[in-house]
Parts: sequence; structure tokens; C-alpha cells
Amino acid sequence: MPEPRLALRGVTKSFGEVSVLHGIDLAVQPGEMVCLIGASGSGKSTLLRCMNGLEPVDDGEVLLDGVDIAEPGFDLAPIRQQIGIVFQSFNLFPHMTAYDNVALAPRRVLGEDARDRIEALFARFGLAQHMRKYPDQLSGGQQQRVAVIRALAMRPHTMLFDEITSALDPELVGEVLDVLRSLRDDGMTMVLATHEMGFARELADRICFMDQGVIAEEGTPDVIFSNPQKERTKQFLASIL
Ligand code: ADP
Ligand code: MG
Repeated sequence: MPEPRLALRGVTKSFGEVSVLHGIDLAVQPGEMVCLIGASGSGKSTLLRCMNGLEPVDDGEVLLDGVDIAEPGFDLAPIRQQIGIVFQSFNLFPHMTAYDNVALAPRRVLGEDARDRIEALFARFGLAQHMRKYPDQLSGGQQQRVAVIRALAMRPHTMLFDEITSALDPELVGEVLDVLRSLRDDGMTMVLATHEMGFARELADRICFMDQGVIAEEGTPDVIFSNPQKERTKQFLASIL
């Protein structure tokens, strides 16, 4: 096994009295696509946010290429470029065009205009005609693709996606999943929290089933969906399928 791109060791996290993650161990290899599934409240979003330092962990290690970014005082600004994150709500600035939403961070953080790279990203994801539009002139699926482009413009090597299709009308889900498919073909390292079980089954290298703050079972999609070993995995799958 090569060194994991991202590895969590014994990560715990509480909000006040509420213990949310209880000793998470997870290693993600370069180019791997890992899907987190599990009931609402099981800790998927918190886990994703711990992976790029958006949420400080209480205990444990978050290793990026072997370096612990959870150490107190670690400079997280470069990490946020290397590990992009996209949320369910697109969070585009409403008063800026799609292009300016994407160009903002490269200009400010990287100090570069990045015009060619940004235009290429819009073209790649079928949005070349929409670059100069404002978010409210775009469909939900188009806005979410702009949000993905915004993260990609920082040239991350890893992407985290938190239920990015959950707020979309059903007919718009496919165009966003196609973006993920294309990134996977590119070899992007990805961790997704998703309710799209068909998609996870088709494309994930590995599925992690989360239950009450632990990874209760992990395995290939075939094993998790066709032959789960743990009772609570079976119960969860029975409840959603
Ligand atoms: P999931 O994404 O699987 O639905 P979350 O990570 O959002 O799960 O939430 C796990 C638990 O942590 C829930 O009980 C939730 O209420 C709690 N939680 C999440 N974020 C916060 C927060 N900022 N403050 C307090 N509790 C939180
Ligand atoms: Mg969540």
C-alpha cells in the first residue's frame, strides 16, 4: 500500500456535551473514491469537516500525506486549497457572476488571474455559455456545478462532497453526478457523503457505513450492498431501499 493521501486515526469530536465522532480510523489512498453512507445525524458532515480542518478535532490525528494537520497551530490555509469541499447548499455570492464567484479565491489567495484555467473548467462542465450569468439566472444543477468549479479552480488534489445533490430537483441530480464521475476518471481523490446509493454502488471504491459516530462497517460496494456483515448495516439498507 502506498502512503494514504488522507488518514484519520482515533479521531474524536464533541459539540459541548454531545459526542459526535468516537474514534474514527479511515485511510484514503490517492485516486480513491470513498462514499460515506448512514442515517442523518450519524456524523458524516462532521467527519468531512474534520478532514480539512474546518472543524477542529478533540483527539486523534488527521494526516495529510503523513503530516498531522490537527496539531494545534497548524497553518490550515494551504490545506483548504489542497482539499476542496462542496456543500449541499451552493453558497454562491448572489451579487457576483458565476465567473467572478470562481475567480475570487484564485485572485485573492493564489494572486493569479487563472482565466484560462477557469474558462477551461466552465467549458469542461458544459457551462461556457453561463459564465457571465448571476446565480439566480442558473438552475440548481448549474449553480452546484459552478460551486464545484470554484473549488477546482484552487487546484485541489482531494475533494470532499457533502450531499451535493440533496437540495436538487430529481431531474438535475444526474448532471451533477456526471461531474463527479468525470473527476473520478481524472484520478481525483474524493470522499463523499451521499444518499445516492445507485451512484455509490456504481462508482465508489469503498463504502463506509456510519452509525452513531463510528464507521460501523466498511467494504467494497458489492459487499456492503449485497452482503453486509453487520446487523445495523442490514437494518439501515433495509430502511432506505
Ligand atoms: P450527518 O451529516 O450524518 O447528518 P452531522 O455530522 O451533521 O451528521 O451531525 C452529527 C451530530 O452532531 C448530530 O447529532 C448533530 O446534531 C450534531 N452536530 C453537528 N454539528 C453541530 C454543531 N455545530 N453544534 C452542535 N451539534 C452539532
Ligand atoms: Mg450531513
